[in-house]
Amino acid sequence: MKSHVKVAVIGGGVVGCSVLYHLAKLGWTDIALIERSELTSGSTWHAAGGFHTINSDSIIAALQGYTS
Ligand SMILES: Cc1cc2nc3c(=O)[nH]c(=O)nc-3n(C[C@H](O)[C@H](O)[C@H](O)COP(=O)(O)OP(=O)(O)OC[C@H]3O[C@@H](n4cnc5c(N)ncnc54)[C@H](O)[C@@H]3O)c2cc1C
Repeated sequence: MKSHVKVAVIGGGVVGCSVLYHLAKLGWTDIALIERSELTSGSTWHAAGGFHTINSDSIIAALQGYTS
């Protein structure tokens, strides 16, 4: 395992995985995800399959649409 990276994302929940995904999508390299247990074993595990189709806040609705 490398001892130095440009970006180390701590935590492999939905937020950490999303940050790493978007950095990679933007072309970032030399990045790593550090998870103390198993990927998605935090609160993300409880939300698996959670699906929202309607939200009164248009910004939240757009965010949920993007992540679906
Ligand atoms: C019962 C329940 C039901 C839910 N239902 C829904 C739902 O239906 N819809 C919805 O949108 N949201 C739901 N949520 C909320 C949603 O699960 C969370 O907002 C979301 O998962 C948070 O993601 P996260 O990546 O910030 O945190 P987490 O998923 O908790 O990920 C954090 C990760 O960081 C790791 N970590 C922590 N400290 C360290 C460290 N020092 N070094 C390395 N790794 C570390 C942990 O092991 C963990 O894997 C629910 C939550 C719960 C508890």
